[in-house]
Amino acid sequence: MNAGTLPLAPDWGWQLRRAITDLEGLERAFRLTDAEREGARRALAQGLPISITPYYAALADPEDERCPIRRQCVPRAEEAREAPGDLRDPLGEEAHEVAPELVRRYPDRALLLVSDRCSVYCRFCTRSRMVGQGGGARSLEQLEPAFRYLAAHPEVREVIVSGGDPLVATASRIRAILERLRALGTLDTVRVATRVPVTLPMRVDDELCRALREGFGATWVMTHFNHPRELTEEATRALARLVDHGLPVMNQTVLLRGVNDDAETLEQLFRGLVARRVRPYYLLQADPVIGTSHLRTPLSTGVAIFERLQGRLSGIALPKLIVDTPGGRGKVPHGPDWVARRGEGVTTFRTFRGELADYVDPPEEP
Ligand code: SF4
Repeated sequence: MNAGTLPLAPDWGWQLRRAITDLEGLERAFRLTDAEREGARRALAQGLPISITPYYAALADPEDERCPIRRQCVPRAEEAREAPGDLRDPLGEEAHEVAPELVRRYPDRALLLVSDRCSVYCRFCTRSRMVGQGGGARSLEQLEPAFRYLAAHPEVREVIVSGGDPLVATASRIRAILERLRALGTLDTVRVATRVPVTLPMRVDDELCRALREGFGATWVMTHFNHPRELTEEATRALARLVDHGLPVMNQTVLLRGVNDDAETLEQLFRGLVARRVRPYYLLQADPVIGTSHLRTPLSTGVAIFERLQGRLSGIALPKLIVDTPGGRGKVPHGPDWVARRGEGVTTFRTFRGELADYVDPPEEP
C-alpha cells in the first residue's frame, strides 16, 4: 500500500474504521522486517496499541523500515527495551493528578485529559501508559470533578485540553467541553493539543472549527508535526481552515532519532509550518518513556541542530528547544551557549557567524 494505490476517502469516520490495528493490516501495508513484526506482536499483547489511519500509512514508505513516518507509527522490537532512566510516566502526571483526568504541574495552568483515543498511536508517546486503554472520549459527567477543582482554584488561568487526542470526538462533544470551561469564568485561555491535522486532517471540517472557535473563545490549537513529509495538501487545507476560522495555531515537534534529528529536515519543517501560518513553538527533547530509547537522541543533538539553525531561520520560524524534566518538575529551555564572556558591565556574545560582539550595560542611575 502506498500513496499511489490507497483510497484516500475524505470521510474521517472511514479513516478510523479502516485504521490498521493488527499484524495482518501491517503486513498488507508494509514489507515488514523481523524487528517490526516482533514489535507488533509485543505491542498487541502488552504494549501501546497499534492504530495507523490509511491516510498516514500512505505517507510511509512500504519498503523501507527507516522511513521517518513509518518509524513514528510501526512498532519495533526495541520497544521491549528498558534503558537506564526510562520511566513509565516520565512527566509525573499521575503524581500531579489533582482530580480524575486533571493534572496540575504549574501554578497557573492544568492539563485536562478528555480522551484516551488517538487516530494514530505514536510509538514515542509520553502517555503510552494510558492511551488506547479503553474508555474513549470522557463524558461531561466523568469530567465534572475536574471542573469542580478548576472552579475552586481560580489561580489556574489556562487549561490544556489533551488526551489521547481530543479532536477524535464529535464536534458537539468538543464544544460542550469548551463551553463548560468557559462557564467557569476563571480561565483566560484554553489550548487544544491534537495530532489530527497530521494523522487525520480530513477531520478538520467547518463544524469542528466553529466548535473550537466559539466553544470557549480564546482557544489556541497546538499541533504536532514532526516531519516535512507530513505537510501534505490535506494537512495544508486543515491548517488553513483552522487559521481562517480565527484560531491561532502553534506546533510542537518532538526530536526523534531517525525521523527529524538533522538541521535540514527541521529547517524544512519549520519553514513549511510558518508558510502555512503555524508558529513552531517547541522542539521537545523526547521524554524518557520506557521502550522509546531507540527513538531518542542525546541532548547534544538538539544543541548541535540549534547551532546550525540560529541565524539561518527567522525568529518566527525557530522554536524553543525544551526539556520537560523527568518527574514533572517542569519545562526547561536549553540550547547552545551564545555568551562567550561575562565581565563587569560588559557581556561578550558569540554570534551565529562565530564573531564576538560586546554588549555594554548602561551606567547605573545616580
Ligand atoms: S497523538 Fe499524541 S497522545 Fe496520541 S499517541 Fe500520538 S503523541 Fe500520544
